[in-house]
Amino acid sequence: MSRMLVVVAELRGGKLRQVSYEALQAAKTVQEDGDRITAVLIGSGLESEAQELASYGADEIQVVDHADLASYNPETYAAALLPILKAVQPHAIFFGHTALGRDLAPVTAARLQAGQISDVVAIHRSDAGPVFNRPLYAGKAFEEKRFTGGPMIVTVRPNNLPPAEPSGTTAGIIRTAYSPPSSLRTVIREVVRQMTGQVDLTEAKIIVSGGRGVKSREGFQPLEQLAAVLGAAVGASRGACDAGYCEYARQIGQTGKVVTPEIYIACGISGAIQHLAGMSQSRIIVAINKDAEAPIFQVADYGIVGDLFEVVPLLTEEFRKA
Ligand code: FAD
Repeated sequence: MSRMLVVVAELRGGKLRQVSYEALQAAKTVQEDGDRITAVLIGSGLESEAQELASYGADEIQVVDHADLASYNPETYAAALLPILKAVQPHAIFFGHTALGRDLAPVTAARLQAGQISDVVAIHRSDAGPVFNRPLYAGKAFEEKRFTGGPMIVTVRPNNLPPAEPSGTTAGIIRTAYSPPSSLRTVIREVVRQMTGQVDLTEAKIIVSGGRGVKSREGFQPLEQLAAVLGAAVGASRGACDAGYCEYARQIGQTGKVVTPEIYIACGISGAIQHLAGMSQSRIIVAINKDAEAPIFQVADYGIVGDLFEVVPLLTEEFRKA
C-alpha cells in the first residue's frame, strides 16, 4: 500500500534552510517502494522557493502561501499544516530540529495523537522499521529508537544527515488554501530577529567560537576576521555572553544552541560540561587556550596552547594565503 511521507520545509531570511534538504533526505531514507514524499512549504511569497524545492526529489510540493504566515506562529502554522496532514494521512512527518521544528513538531504530535522522536542524528533501516539514533546526556551517549505505531514524527538535527541532492525531475506544486484559526490569543505582529551573521550557527560548516578569554566585545574582532576568511559563523560560550562580550543569540551549549559543524575552533573557552553539551559532536575540534590544563583540550582533536590574540591573527593570515 502506498504511504505518504511528509517533510515540513523551512525558510530563513527568505531562503530554504539547509536542514530542509536534510529532512527530505531523512524521508528518502525510510522510503519504501510505492511510498510518496510530499514537501510542505508554509510562509508568504513562496513562488521561487517552491520551484527550488520541487527539483529535489519529492513527489509533490504543497504550498500554503498567505500574508499571515510571513513569520512563524504555532497557531497559524498549525492551522496551515494540519489540514494537509489530515488529507494525506501521513505515515511519517519530518521537521528540522530548529526553533520552528522544536515547537511545531510537538504541536503536530499532540493534535495527531502521535509519537515523536526528536533531535535525530542518524537513521538506518531494519526489518522492524526505521531506527532513529539520537544523543542523550548532552552527547555522552546515544540511543536507538523506533516507532511501534504511526504516524511517526521526527525532528532531524541540522548538519548530521546528508542533504537531498537535485533529482533531475520537477515535482508538481499544489497550492493549498489557508483558513486563519480562531485564535485564543492576540499576536502583536512584530518579530525582532536577531541575526548572528551571514552564516546560520546551527547549519554552519565551520564555527569560530569565543569565550571569556576574549576579554571584551572588541576581543571578538580577531575571531570575526578569521571567520570571514573561512566563511564561518561566530559562536560564543555563555561566559562570553554573560560578560556582555556578545549577544546571547550566539551562545552554544546546554542552554544555548547545539551545533555539529565540520570544524569548531574554540578560542579562550575552558570547556565546561555545559559548553561541551552544545559542541562536542563537532567533527573536528580545535582549541586555542593559554592554559594547557584547560578541559577543552580533552575533547579537542587539535590543541594550541597559546594566547588567542597571537594565535588567531596568525591563523587568519595563513588561511588568507591559502
Ligand atoms: P571560563 O571558564 O572563564 O574560561 C575562559 C578560558 O579562557 C580559560 O580556560 C582561560 O585559560 C582562557 N583564556 C583566558 N585568556 C586567554 C587568552 N588570551 N588566550 C587563550 N585563552 C585564554 N556555558 C556555555 O558555554 N553554554 C551553555 O549553554 C551553558 N549553560 C549553562 C547552564 C547551566 C545550568 C549552568 C550552571 C552553566 C551553564 N554554562 C554554559 C556556564 C558554564 O558552566 C561555564 O561557566 C562557561 O561555559 C564558561 O565560559 P568560558 O569557558 O568562556 O569561561
